[in-house]
Amino acid sequence: MKCRSAVVYEHGGPVVVEDLNLASPKDGEVLIRMAASGICQSDWSVVKGTIRYDLPIVLGHEGAGIIEAVGQGVTYVKPGDHAILSFVTYCGLCRMCQSGRVALCEGILANSGCLLDNTCRFTNRSGQSIPQMARIGTMSNYAVVSENSLIKISSDYSLQKAALVGCGVTTGIGAVINTAQVQSGEWVAVIGVGGVGLNVIQGARIAGAERIFAIDLVQKKLDYAQQFGATDIINASHTHPKKIMTELTDGKGVDYAFEVIGQPETIHLAYQVTSLGGTTVVIGIAETSANIQIPAQDLVRSEKRLVGSFYGSANLRLDMQRILDWYDQGKIKLSKLITQTYSLDQVNQAFDDLNAGKNIRGMILYD
Ligand SMILES: [Zn+2]
Ligand SMILES: [Zn+2]
Repeated sequence: MKCRSAVVYEHGGPVVVEDLNLASPKDGEVLIRMAASGICQSDWSVVKGTIRYDLPIVLGHEGAGIIEAVGQGVTYVKPGDHAILSFVTYCGLCRMCQSGRVALCEGILANSGCLLDNTCRFTNRSGQSIPQMARIGTMSNYAVVSENSLIKISSDYSLQKAALVGCGVTTGIGAVINTAQVQSGEWVAVIGVGGVGLNVIQGARIAGAERIFAIDLVQKKLDYAQQFGATDIINASHTHPKKIMTELTDGKGVDYAFEVIGQPETIHLAYQVTSLGGTTVVIGIAETSANIQIPAQDLVRSEKRLVGSFYGSANLRLDMQRILDWYDQGKIKLSKLITQTYSLDQVNQAFDDLNAGKNIRGMILYD
């Protein structure tokens, strides 16, 4: 069949929106009609080449849609089911999957964007095979994906809101609830309050954090942070965040500092504002070549912990449903995260807006 997809042929872009051929689902795969795809910093990282894929590739890793057809042996979903796509296609068999840490599935290491049998379902007009970002490629009105990339949800949820849960929401909330396990009454700092950082704030609120410090350079983002539950906002463009944090915490620092940017300087800042015995959690994805320096003696004397958090350390099918339950109970906001919608053909505009910091989340909607 024909589909319309956003493809990267050259690092730096532009992103080409074109008609592709899409083959039928094979064993264990499904054809999904996409309803919505979020536009995330990681998509732009693929365009730039910071997140490395061989090109060309169909973009997009945050989406939700409706199952149109299923291949042989598919048991998890049937046509008509609604589903969120996961940017980790997990095998269910490896050591990590077996222990519930499916986001760390050892299969991800081999991620080339091809499906699990190492072949592609998309081809362009010249017959060239095109893999899919994160094995899903949500910036396409149709895609064929493994059933292991799906989280089935009730058709009562708006697929726009559900799409958000596929990346930013789970990454942010999961980092607080699963990775850090913040407890009631603890103090939290969030460095970088974009689409993921705001969800760290939502997670901290659910966990019952007493103080939530939001640190960013952009005042508009800090205003959103306040609406999402930050108790203190710090604009680092005209103050020294370390100094202010020292003042605001009586020199103690916070129990948990979350870094959501992916830069060595801000990771170092997060470490500095972490209290004795506290935990620094790094969520932001840095460039492959970036390194961090941590004072070795201080690490011991302060008993700080430094941990990474990928995809919110989530057990995806359980945790995404739990997040939707919190939404049902009014504990988290989802619609407020979407500040602009686009058609697929406007994808380059959407990336311009992303880079200009205009949106919390831009969202591509399909007919
Ligand atoms: Zn993302
Ligand atoms: Zn696995």
